[in-house]
Amino acid sequence: MISRQTITHPFNRGNYTVGAPSPSKWARNTPVGDGAAALQADPVEVPETVVKALREAAHAVHTSRDEVVTRTRDWWAGSMIGETEGRPATPDAVFVEAADADQVAAVLRICHEAGIPVTPSAGRSNVTGAALPVFGGVVLDVCGLNRITGFDAGSNVVDVQAGMFGDLFEKQLQEEYGVTTGHWPSAFAVSTVGGWIACRGAGQLSTRYGKIEDMVVGVDVVHADGTRATYGDYARAAVGPDLRQLFIGSEGTLGVIVSARLRVHPLPEYASAVAYGFESFAEGLEACRRIMQRGATPAVLRLYDALESGTHFGHPETNLLLIADEGDPALVDASIEVAKEVCEVYGPELDSRAVFERWLDERMLVGKSAEGFEPGPGFVADTLEMAASWTDLPVIYDEVVAAIEAVDGTLAASAHQSHAYTDGACVYFSLRGDVAPKSRRDWYRAVWDAANAVLVAHGAALSHHHGCGLLRGPYMAKSLGAGFATFVAVKKALDPAGILNPGKLGLPSRFGTSPLS
Ligand SMILES: Cc1cc2nc3c(=O)[nH]c(=O)nc-3n(C[C@H](O)[C@H](O)[C@H](O)COP(=O)(O)OP(=O)(O)OC[C@H]3O[C@@H](n4cnc5c(N)ncnc54)[C@H](O)[C@@H]3O)c2cc1C
Repeated sequence: MISRQTITHPFNRGNYTVGAPSPSKWARNTPVGDGAAALQADPVEVPETVVKALREAAHAVHTSRDEVVTRTRDWWAGSMIGETEGRPATPDAVFVEAADADQVAAVLRICHEAGIPVTPSAGRSNVTGAALPVFGGVVLDVCGLNRITGFDAGSNVVDVQAGMFGDLFEKQLQEEYGVTTGHWPSAFAVSTVGGWIACRGAGQLSTRYGKIEDMVVGVDVVHADGTRATYGDYARAAVGPDLRQLFIGSEGTLGVIVSARLRVHPLPEYASAVAYGFESFAEGLEACRRIMQRGATPAVLRLYDALESGTHFGHPETNLLLIADEGDPALVDASIEVAKEVCEVYGPELDSRAVFERWLDERMLVGKSAEGFEPGPGFVADTLEMAASWTDLPVIYDEVVAAIEAVDGTLAASAHQSHAYTDGACVYFSLRGDVAPKSRRDWYRAVWDAANAVLVAHGAALSHHHGCGLLRGPYMAKSLGAGFATFVAVKKALDPAGILNPGKLGLPSRFGTSPLS
């Protein structure tokens, strides 16, 4: 029922582009600037002979500066800061559109031989600068790979191409096959299946259906040199390490995903929800922990701190927990019953119906982190999602909010718990600052440094589902510790020429140092 509602109730009230990347609000309102590149130094030039070969191999090739800037804009606050100063992030590149897996392979072969960087690109809804061609070269757009190519009704597995946008994918799944992925990232209609896999994404109903890494049965990858392989395609296996997982979350640095098989579920007709309030965020986290550890898996288990309870639900006096589930009535009712038993100890039920309806109505609106603030010319809003154990989360919440609020120019930091497990959860922070326009970059870097220092000190995961891209590159080696060397070795083995999405995830690159290092 929640999954069904997402199709009948259009994403962002229908304010987006269907079947192609949608520009964010700032991108729609900001003309292409003629200033120096904000995030690109010494870009690799693509020789005319290579451009000619790309034109023969691919569906379309774009080289004009304006086209490249417009087509490579993303949803990252870091890009917005430069672009609204008249400094495009990465204007120097060749934008290449592929229509099928053969074209992806051909483009990679050409670039591999010529030593040209290749940055895979899809919905461009990332919020980390992950698809910016920071060393120039080729941006390889896979949005043309946009079809469902098979459905195994017995196993409930769908075969889908990587560039298919989430809204079109789900609409077809629901209307033709009566199933859903249950994968509902807040940006589902402006992002693609391949982008979800590449970023290790999570949807709003992940506590029932899992993250994308739980949904991928198999994945087809084109390697840096143009060769191909299929990884997985089993329900479970013990045939060495699970190599699928290398590509899930690799953000275009290890290969280009061209198609995948995903688990799907019968489209639910039944849902139920309850909402409670808690005196503190820590108390609410404790209730979530108890619900999860009793074995309940309600699709939605979202706890908002007082600031967000106020802006999202008009309940600033409390820390609001919404518990909702969909699916087989027997399972749903049991999950909700467990949640009620746990929460009733802390206080009476809120007006659950009103809370649930408001959440359903607003859950796919963009720009929520800026709500309640008056954006001036120096206003910056961003989000930071992370994961840690139940033991550490209460103190991490307090310390991250304090660290962000200690930076000069911060208006407020707030958070909600959005994805829960038996051992821990994801907490999603919103940060807003208002500074002199020319100080935005410094404020932005200072709050990310401050927050990430807390996460590294507690051994928390820097990201739960947005990925790392350019933004989290500077903190990767510290966060992964000795294991980072293993990642570097895997990158060298799979992409010896280092052409795939260089400058991201903190990986060293032969083309130079990342603009954020
Ligand atoms: C308003 C808003 C809300 C959001 N909410 C969520 C949310 O709830 N959950 C969530 O998980 N994310 C969320 N995001 C982040 C974003 O939507 C995801 O990271 C998404 O998975 C990116 O997919 P994309 O198709 O837009 O990829 P892009 O932005 O084009 O690319 C992202 C990265 O993936 C790589 N990539 C893309 N396609 C491929 C491919 N086929 N093969 C190899 N590499 C590839 C790119 O090189 C890049 O590194 C949100 C973003 C916005 C703007």
